[in-house]
Amino acid sequence: MSIKLDHINYVYSEGTAYEKHALKDVCLEIPHGEFVGIIGHTGSGKSTLIQHLNGLLKASSGALYYNGRNIYEEGYPMKELRTQVGLVFQYPEYQLFEVDVLTDVCFGPKNQGLSPEECKERALEALKLVGLKEKYYQVSPFELSGGQKRRAAIAGVLAMRPKVLVLDEPTAGLDPKGRDDILDQIAYLHKVSDMTVILVSHSMEDIAKYADRIIVMDHGQVKYNDTPRAVFAHYLELEKIGLAAPQVTYIMHDLREHGLAVDPRVTTVKEA
Ligand code: ADP
Repeated sequence: MSIKLDHINYVYSEGTAYEKHALKDVCLEIPHGEFVGIIGHTGSGKSTLIQHLNGLLKASSGALYYNGRNIYEEGYPMKELRTQVGLVFQYPEYQLFEVDVLTDVCFGPKNQGLSPEECKERALEALKLVGLKEKYYQVSPFELSGGQKRRAAIAGVLAMRPKVLVLDEPTAGLDPKGRDDILDQIAYLHKVSDMTVILVSHSMEDIAKYADRIIVMDHGQVKYNDTPRAVFAHYLELEKIGLAAPQVTYIMHDLREHGLAVDPRVTTVKEA
């Protein structure tokens, strides 16, 4: 099981004055069960990329294989794909609209045509997974704090029991404590399930801690796609595309742990 992007290109407003080539020849394979971080500065193509994963955007050219089958072939069950690849958008709390949290989390499974009992069971399971306390289940989503709203929104996607969970900047706008809580919760979700987790962020600090693999996007292209260690080794290049300070700090910590010290100014590695 995997997601494979094969020479994907995406152009917004093709043939108009606003044309923008947002993805350029993107080739990637994401095996099932991985925790993948996608990083890049604003406008590098992260959101465009992830909207291809569940077919929300259709590539201008190229192919996307989900478990070996090209999703662009005629008759592909797109509805099923949208259930299997759950997308949590930026500021997902703006999509909370039901009278209470539990009803809101039931919305997805209800749309899938499940019975009210099954919907409730799924919703309760999802709310537990995101660590939202029971006292909030009957409360209006609008009364929750920022971090709680985000948990409720993530639960709404989890209630559909996706195989792949894609989160676009899940920590945006949260305070440092809320940010750590959400990231820890996402790491927990990955640990207790066999879900693939794809975490999009413009902050290396956010993903450095958890990802098995990091995909660095730059101007619509995949610049690096490797283990955190291998990606951080390119810190001088990363610095040039605005992904600098945290990596340098991270590499220095990392190398020190292994008995090595690095001087980023002269790029030499020597015994500590
Ligand atoms: P990121 O998520 O990394 O910030 P995006 O995927 O949102 O990047 O954007 C990639 C590029 O596509 C940017 O140059 C952005 O301005 C452009 N873009 C994004 N959405 C649209 C749109 N709806 N119409 C036209 N251009 C867009």
